[in-house]
Amino acid sequence: MTETLLEIDNLSVDYETARGDLKALRDISFDVNRGEIVGIVGESGCGKSTLISAILRLIAPNTRFRNGAIRFKGDDLLTRTEEQMRALRGGDISIVFQDPMQTHNPVITIGKQMVDIQHRVKISKAEKLATAARMLGVVGIPDPEARLKQYPHEFSGGMRQRIAIAMALMSEPDLLIADEPTTALDATLEVQIIERLKDLQRDFGCAILFISHHLGVIAELCDRVVVMYAGAVVESGTVREIFHNPKHPYTRRLIECDPGHIKTRARVLPTIPGEVPDLANLPEGCIFRERCDQAMARCAQVPPLTRLSEGHNAACWLNHAEEIA
Ligand code: SF4
Repeated sequence: MTETLLEIDNLSVDYETARGDLKALRDISFDVNRGEIVGIVGESGCGKSTLISAILRLIAPNTRFRNGAIRFKGDDLLTRTEEQMRALRGGDISIVFQDPMQTHNPVITIGKQMVDIQHRVKISKAEKLATAARMLGVVGIPDPEARLKQYPHEFSGGMRQRIAIAMALMSEPDLLIADEPTTALDATLEVQIIERLKDLQRDFGCAILFISHHLGVIAELCDRVVVMYAGAVVESGTVREIFHNPKHPYTRRLIECDPGHIKTRARVLPTIPGEVPDLANLPEGCIFRERCDQAMARCAQVPPLTRLSEGHNAACWLNHAEEIA
């Protein structure tokens, strides 16, 4: 039976600024099931980073949770104490960040860093080093015992990211959050990291929340996809539904603009005209209206996120034929 691990329920988050409240997330709802890989995709400014910060409760002082809940294994993380959240981070929930160079302390050997992050485990230092070496082996670092004595700068970018993944998996988390972990890597290394993540997800059985603006990576790795635009979910569904039967114009434009989908030679890569709206001064109606080439009078009202088929939802009036007519 499918077990819900993470449940984002109607979450709204603002940043208080001198210009007024910046509405970073609005009524976000989606689930991540145990052992599942869910991708979050959208342009810069769509709310991906705020969502991760909110889940981990690593938030700026001006952040305000306005509404909703973030339930992990049934407990609302928004009601947890800071001490409880510290125990959760790096424990049941781990994260891999975008830049592998900034993940590691440059003046401490990889071995010492991997021993230090096992501070909660009551075993000897030799046993911790053995665990660290085993995990480096798991992520495909050759000669792991010797490499534990090396510093981060002695590894390539791809290897540093593998080490970051090894460190994130050392606590055997139920949920791994991967925040654009391949963005700083070239295409070959990207493929290697994706393959490794797939293997590890299968071997460790953890769920992965994979954040990316790269659709090809999402299609390759994920079971389900959540498409975000300007702080809201505009479409969600299985990878197959999203890539083969997208129902929101924003999703369609994202796919059209993905370099992997461009079949003909072009001097200039296609883009979506216009810009993400100012989140401190949101327009009326559909959030995508100013950039949408299918906008109509009905779009002056906010379209609800509507279930189109099992697990496939979209927020667009084009999918409400009876109300348009
Ligand atoms: Fe475009 Fe209207 Fe659909 Fe919004 S609701 S995406 S403006 S057609």
